[in-house]
Amino acid sequence: MRKAVCPGSFDPVTLGHLDIFERASLMFDEVIISVFVNPTKDKAMFTMKERVNMIKKATAHIPNVKVTSFSGLLNDFCKQQGANFIIRGLRAFSDFEYEFQRALLIKKINKDLETVFIMTNAQYSYLSSSSVRELAYFDGQIAGLVPACIEEDIKNILAKIKAKKITKEKG
Ligand code: ADP
Repeated sequence: MRKAVCPGSFDPVTLGHLDIFERASLMFDEVIISVFVNPTKDKAMFTMKERVNMIKKATAHIPNVKVTSFSGLLNDFCKQQGANFIIRGLRAFSDFEYEFQRALLIKKINKDLETVFIMTNAQYSYLSSSSVRELAYFDGQIAGLVPACIEEDIKNILAKIKAKKITKEKG
């Protein structure tokens, strides 16, 4: 059984990510999407649970996908899951250097673990979670950037975050 892990922050999941999940699901028997939480650098806007739930909703139509989360090293997670492949999406040149270094490091730790790159769909090449976060926070239009079924979730979560911030500033 060919299992692949799709790791990422997915803060939040976008249509660019979803396109990669759908294409990976055609190449592997099982695709394990995992929200990675890195306490040494994590400054996520959405909680791990929120991110997992949004991905679950957005991928409900893909039968061979499993969604989970992990805090730790990617190599350890792949071993735990019995997966020999890591899927990463590639956008512009800017992604390449980081991904190249990361893939080589992973290979050095475990030579049986293969990183597979899927080129972005041209339609989403400009799309990033950080731009979605910024747009959504300032009430910009996120339709067409994130899966339609999670648009409201994003708006509701951000409304709560903003309300909390205002209360904190007042108090
Ligand atoms: P990271 O894993 O670096 O925290 P993300 O969670 O945003 O970043 O992305 C997870 C994976 O999805 C990465 O391989 C990233 O390159 C890829 N990705 C992000 N946005 C897009 C997009 N618009 N098109 C294709 N791949 C993307």
